[in-house]
Amino acid sequence: MQALLRRWRAKVAALRFSFGLTGRLVAAFAGVGALVLAANFLVLQGVRVERTTEITRLAPTPPVAVAKPIEAAPIISESPAVARERRVVISDPVVVALNRFARSAQERIRSRDNGTEADYKQAGADLEQSSRAFMAQAAAISGKPLPKLGSGLKAYEGLGQELVALADSRHAMLGEYATLFEGLYARVNGSVKSAWKVFGRVVARQSLLQLSTDLDELRRNSAALESADSAQSPEIAPYLKSEQAVIDNLASNEKGFRSSQGDQWYDAMRGDLSQLVSRREALMQLNAQLHARARDFAEQASSVAALVPAKVEGVVITQAPPVAHRKAGNAASNSSAPASAPAPAVPDAEAQPAPVVATHSVTTQAPQDHRKRLVIAWLSAAVLILLMSIAIGTVQSIVGPVRRLRDATMRLAKGDGTVRVQRGGIRELDTLAVAFNAMADELASARAATRDYQQSLEAKVAERTQQLQELAERDPLTGLPNRRELFTLLNAAIARARDEGYLVGVFFLDIDNFKYLNDSMGHAFGDRVLISLARRLQEATQSFGFAARLGGDEFTVVHERAACVEDIRLAGLSVVQAFQRPLSVDGRDLIVSVSVGASIHPDHERDADALLRAADAALFRAKALGRSQLSVFTPELLEDAASKFTTEQGLRRAIERGEFELMYQPEVNADSLEVALVEALIRWRMPDGTLVAPGEFLAIAEESGLIMEISDWVLRTAVETAAYWHHGEWPQARVAINVSPRQLLDGRFVESLIELLEQHRLPTRCIEIELTESVLQTGTATIEALKRLRAHGVAIALDDFGTGYSSLASVEQLPLSRIKLDRSLIAGIDTNSRSAAMARAIVGMCQGLGLEITAEGVERAEQFALLLGHPGMYLQGYLLSRPVSRDDVLPALVNVAQRAQELLLQPQIPRSPRVVELSAPTRLSLPEAG
Ligand code: C2E
Ligand code: CA
Ligand code: CA
Repeated sequence: MQALLRRWRAKVAALRFSFGLTGRLVAAFAGVGALVLAANFLVLQGVRVERTTEITRLAPTPPVAVAKPIEAAPIISESPAVARERRVVISDPVVVALNRFARSAQERIRSRDNGTEADYKQAGADLEQSSRAFMAQAAAISGKPLPKLGSGLKAYEGLGQELVALADSRHAMLGEYATLFEGLYARVNGSVKSAWKVFGRVVARQSLLQLSTDLDELRRNSAALESADSAQSPEIAPYLKSEQAVIDNLASNEKGFRSSQGDQWYDAMRGDLSQLVSRREALMQLNAQLHARARDFAEQASSVAALVPAKVEGVVITQAPPVAHRKAGNAASNSSAPASAPAPAVPDAEAQPAPVVATHSVTTQAPQDHRKRLVIAWLSAAVLILLMSIAIGTVQSIVGPVRRLRDATMRLAKGDGTVRVQRGGIRELDTLAVAFNAMADELASARAATRDYQQSLEAKVAERTQQLQELAERDPLTGLPNRRELFTLLNAAIARARDEGYLVGVFFLDIDNFKYLNDSMGHAFGDRVLISLARRLQEATQSFGFAARLGGDEFTVVHERAACVEDIRLAGLSVVQAFQRPLSVDGRDLIVSVSVGASIHPDHERDADALLRAADAALFRAKALGRSQLSVFTPELLEDAASKFTTEQGLRRAIERGEFELMYQPEVNADSLEVALVEALIRWRMPDGTLVAPGEFLAIAEESGLIMEISDWVLRTAVETAAYWHHGEWPQARVAINVSPRQLLDGRFVESLIELLEQHRLPTRCIEIELTESVLQTGTATIEALKRLRAHGVAIALDDFGTGYSSLASVEQLPLSRIKLDRSLIAGIDTNSRSAAMARAIVGMCQGLGLEITAEGVERAEQFALLLGHPGMYLQGYLLSRPVSRDDVLPALVNVAQRAQELLLQPQIPRSPRVVELSAPTRLSLPEAG
């Protein structure tokens, strides 16, 4: 059921969508037109009914139809003896007589007194008379005798008679019934009355009393006998029920009745009751017949009414002179017109020839009704035309704009941005057109914007692609070829050199101490250093090859065509030398040295990757040699690289297991010849018991970052040991601790050192920090930290002075308390006058600045002798003492002093005049010039 409903709905929806606006409007107006026509039709029907009603109300009317001439004057024709007269006869008297006959018949059926009887008879006579007169006149005017009307009327009157006869029979039957019932009732009532009376109250059988009650009930319901025409009629049901009750009572109490009332009484009751039942049945049959006849009678009345034309008109031609005709006409109109009289239009039938009927027309409607109909028809037509014009106008004002909008939308959807809709049509559609045009405008501008955006996007993409391509090949910071591009170029160079028989040199570069520079000066500054460095490299290499950046501070240089190994070595040296001029970064001169490792194709390796690895190994070697070094690959270097890896792994293990030890080397006051302080020097005790010197592992520890953990350990152990001595047998103990620049970069270095000293209750004067010049490159923050240290009373020594590019600037800028002259500087003071002069100058400078001096690497008595007698001079070297273990320090204090005394007493040490030169009179006097 639901599926059916759904299908039906879908069909309706499909119909709705397949119907265009025109179709809908046409359908709607066709509907309206049909409604108007139907209404028109119904109105006409209404007019006819109305007319009948009017005539019914026209009473009293003359019983005879009167023929009235419409025109009083005769129509003069071609012959003076012939007259034309338009005549008309109306049927109103007949209709009135019909109605009256019907009414009087109804009355006669209801009651049978003399009045109704007479009235009924009179109505029949009147009907006959008026109809006969009408038919005669109509026949005279139209020449048609209306035979159907005559026979219809006869049948109608016959039906009336039958109906009346039936009513009479029913009346008689009702009388018989009443008589019978009363007899029965009297018998029962008599029996009740003749029953016993006790104290004035009737004491009778219950069944007899019930019978009496049932008969009362039957009487009350007997009114239905006048109308009920079958046992099924609802109105007879109560009667039948009480009738059955009487029958049942009589049957069920037969024995009682027979004994109390006697057999005769009972049989008489039974006989009367069965007659009553048969009378009742006969009455119902009669009622049924009466009803059927009454229906026939009513039907016949309406068919006779339909046979009666409203009027009959025509033209009558007479031969009589016009005057006589008029007189006759007047006489006729005034006469009482007997039913058998000839047509009133013909006054003298014997004297005049019979009228000739020229034309005739019959209409069932009154003329004013016809006019009404015409008016209604014209009005309907006008309404329809109006509706159609409104429909067409509406369709045109809707369909046109809608089609334009539809076409425009389709074009717009296809991408035609220029389309605009012509305005017009109904207001809503015009507004829609304006909105559409606005939308199209916006769409067009949006499209244009999108196009522009797309173009700019494409340009950007092209630019980005270019940039990406460059990025893929170039290092974004320096613009040098990147690792990828290096491999491409190097492989190409190798291929060319192989074909042409040349050598290819690969150089691996490392900027000395770049890490410190970067960490201390900031990465932005570091980047600018790298850019400047890259430019310098490009300049230095353009004559023989190219430079590339691998990342961080790792650069490579390729010599693309070298004739011999020497060419490659010279090229490497030229690169190293290129950095001996300072770089200009942010307007300041910066000294940056590079170490270079080189490998050669095909001598060392044959592919790019292996050549780079070989150059890296050579670089490690170069760095081990010191700053600004070039090292060319040898196969052993690869072993070094491997051992470097092993060392790193070993160091991690050493940190975990605590394999480090500290040795302490005394520094002797040249004046008092007493040990003033000891320098803490790290050793790595291998599991097999051998000791490894710091030179063999510190560089690797620095490189791998392990130095931080190692340095921490050194600091804690040295402070701990100093505290042990200070609070024990050597209260004046002072320990010098080597500090890596990396440690100073840690912002908390000073504070944690002070905390450590407080923790061990060690005065700050018991500690001295040793730094190399490279600390200057770590920036101002570290210098500030050193100043704080000095303020706390911690002494600061500048280590290894005289190596590298020892500058006076470092002496001036750092808050130093001591300068340690490097072993290389001391090595020649007793053999080389230049060394002696340099030492003298530096000693003079330090004394001038109030700095203490330690001469490192004093190995010979001659050196010892030359360094004596200078205030603030301290001596450190194997001559006096090698570094000793912690437990050997206290005995060493005595032994070293004794050794110094012994040395002083050695007679073979000549006091050279240079010693005199070297010694200055006071610590505050300026050094000698020259
Ligand atoms: P340095 O600070 O210049 O230490 C002095 C070095 O010279 C020591 O070598 C010492 O044993 C050696 N030496 C002393 N007198 C003589 C001599 O008369 N002749 C010769 N040939 N050598 C002498 P060591 O102990 O091998 O230390 C080497 C370097 O390792 C040190 O040089 C120092 O820079 C570094 N170092 C040592 N211990 C530590 C440490 O605990 N921390 C840090 N950061 N560096 C340390
Ligand atoms: Ca040192
Ligand atoms: Ca040193």
